[in-house]
Amino acid sequence: MKMKELDFIDFPPGTVTEYTTLVCLACIFDIFTKQIGLAPRSAYSEIKRYSPTVEELTSRKAVRPFFDSDEKHPRCPYCNAAKRWHARLDTHCIEGGKTTDAPRRKLVKSIEKKKDQFVVIERKSDRRSTFFDWLDTLRITLDLNDPAWLLDATRAYIERKAPKENWAEVFEGLRAVRPSSRLEEGWARDGTRLFLAPPIYNETLLVQYLVSRSHEHGGRTLEGRLTLMELIRRMRNSGYLAAHNIEATDQFETLEKLLDEVAGSGQLKLYYIVDRREFMERVKSVYASYA
Ligand SMILES: [Zn+2]
Repeated sequence: MKMKELDFIDFPPGTVTEYTTLVCLACIFDIFTKQIGLAPRSAYSEIKRYSPTVEELTSRKAVRPFFDSDEKHPRCPYCNAAKRWHARLDTHCIEGGKTTDAPRRKLVKSIEKKKDQFVVIERKSDRRSTFFDWLDTLRITLDLNDPAWLLDATRAYIERKAPKENWAEVFEGLRAVRPSSRLEEGWARDGTRLFLAPPIYNETLLVQYLVSRSHEHGGRTLEGRLTLMELIRRMRNSGYLAAHNIEATDQFETLEKLLDEVAGSGQLKLYYIVDRREFMERVKSVYASYA
């Protein structure tokens, strides 16, 4: 039976992050019956109530009983159990804020009566760490060996910065992105080229730098390979630092201030929507084979 996927179409791009992990029910039953010593019936009711933590659901490094696999018929890496023992847990993380409040309330309302099937976890966070989570997700979805990643990273950032614009249309058939000193703000498309006002262009360079800095001696951008020093010099010469009152002399201090500009500062709330439907269904069928 195919389950209907939750619909996130009303959320602006870049405000929802998806995480998927597999959980091995053979491992879970093993933990509850052998290590904790519960009878299968009690283990079953405990497992049904079991709600993984945000860390377990979103960690890039899964630990038992969680694992990640792209294979069609994966085996549990801990106990070798076959696919029928595995359940997929999908988690969507929504960034709280003005643009997501209305669609989030609507979504939560649509699932609130299905308490066994969905769990909503609220977490306090801040803009800086949310930005780095977003950057991390971006890094693993891009193929840094394909030069097209530079345009994709640029688009991801400006979508996040200006979610109301139809960027899919603006980027359709696009070949290049360039700065234009004739633009004070915003963008203009000319044929297959997109021109950006220097401030936002410079911010996209910083994002490209951050995405690629750990890859092959880091720092690849639309302006070629840049060190942090060169990137900062570029931003100083274009007037970006002065316009944002950044007067730091040390390059790492300057980077901190620049991050405040692109990541934003202050608190925000994160809402994790955990889809437990496959988990509940598998727990039932696995228990049936135990009993
Ligand atoms: Zn297992």
